[in-house]
Amino acid sequence: MIHPLSFLPTRPLSARQSAAATRPTHLFASPGSLARSDRFERQASGITSLRFGQTTDTQAAQETARKVAQAIYAYQDKYHATCTEADCPTCIDSLAQRVLPFVTQERPLELVLPGFPYKSKSQKKCMGVRADAAELVAVERLTSLLDDVEWAYPKGAHLTIYSDGRSYCHVSGVCDNSVSTYLESMRELLDHARLADKIKIVSLEDIAPVGNPHAPVGTPHNWPAMRDWLLETYGQPLPEIQTAIEADPALQSNYQGMKCFRQKDLEGHPDTLVTDPATNQTLPYSEFGCKARRRICGHLALLGMQSAMAWGDLIDAQAPDALRLSVHAKPCGSRKFGISLTGQTGRSITPWHAVACELPKQPDHPAPISTRILVPRALAEEAGLEATEVDLHPTGKHAPGLPMFQAKTPASVQQLLSLLAKTAHRPHTTSSAP
Ligand SMILES: [Zn+2]
Repeated sequence: MIHPLSFLPTRPLSARQSAAATRPTHLFASPGSLARSDRFERQASGITSLRFGQTTDTQAAQETARKVAQAIYAYQDKYHATCTEADCPTCIDSLAQRVLPFVTQERPLELVLPGFPYKSKSQKKCMGVRADAAELVAVERLTSLLDDVEWAYPKGAHLTIYSDGRSYCHVSGVCDNSVSTYLESMRELLDHARLADKIKIVSLEDIAPVGNPHAPVGTPHNWPAMRDWLLETYGQPLPEIQTAIEADPALQSNYQGMKCFRQKDLEGHPDTLVTDPATNQTLPYSEFGCKARRRICGHLALLGMQSAMAWGDLIDAQAPDALRLSVHAKPCGSRKFGISLTGQTGRSITPWHAVACELPKQPDHPAPISTRILVPRALAEEAGLEATEVDLHPTGKHAPGLPMFQAKTPASVQQLLSLLAKTAHRPHTTSSAP
């Protein structure tokens, strides 16, 4: 049986993080204060960092690359990882190999992460279309990863989030305006948290050489033309993707997960107009028979995979040297490295499928801190948690309040964790938000 408390976020156990764990997690320290804090921690721990600018020694560069790899490895989605041993040497070696060129060239490490597409339109999962405290939890964890890289390598790292929602929202029945609102709120969140210099978010319209996303108000944006450009430039023909799915169990699992998503979503919105690929007939989903519905959902899943794969190839073209992170677990030693955006154990969850819940301070902790976890909205409401807001900026000045839920009593925490334990056995699904 899974212990309910196992869902609480776990933090990697580096010296920096042990010290950082004493900082309040509900306040977002500015980059400047983090830097001051890190300098203090370095002095207190007696650790001397390598002196860059004088790195001519290959062995020293390799050692640094390995420390950076270990720092990143600590953020792995361990629940879904396929590694057979702790501190997996295969994964750490693989990461170190890709970090080494940055260290030898003495430049900041470049990290890329596809994800943060849009908020799921399911009211059982999220509270709206804007980024909220759930995204803040994920961004705080990503910031912690960047801090740990900087701890090992003073040149530090930059992260680019490649928001993939624009590339497949048309398949998921999410409108482009919702994608735009989400992107805008994510940029506001990064800006107010003073992280825009460390983490940036880009979308299809920032890259595609077609359409005019910055046209005057009232001018329609040409999102479909941008998606056409993406598929014409990077897309694979659907029959090739079908063949690849049949040959690869991992792709097959991904395909089934996306198909299941489409089925659940359309069953919840039966008036949605869909097209049967066999007859080219367009009708409300509810007017098709069972066989046609399965065919339609399978085709939509295939289109979603085609867009996601094209988006992945675009990222490779845009940032060929960058170290690629993923919100999905990847095979041991893979070129892409699967991280957890929450640090929670158990079934992985992303902020665009969830709400943030703040648990009460722990009185027995040496430096009492609050803890935030991500759960589907329906679970938070079933546990009787109260919807509230958290100020993004510590002073609350000129910063939007971010929606979240709060558990005020030990009983409500216990109920929430116990509901989470009951859902833990459900199979992991993909990131495509219905
Ligand atoms: Zn491994």
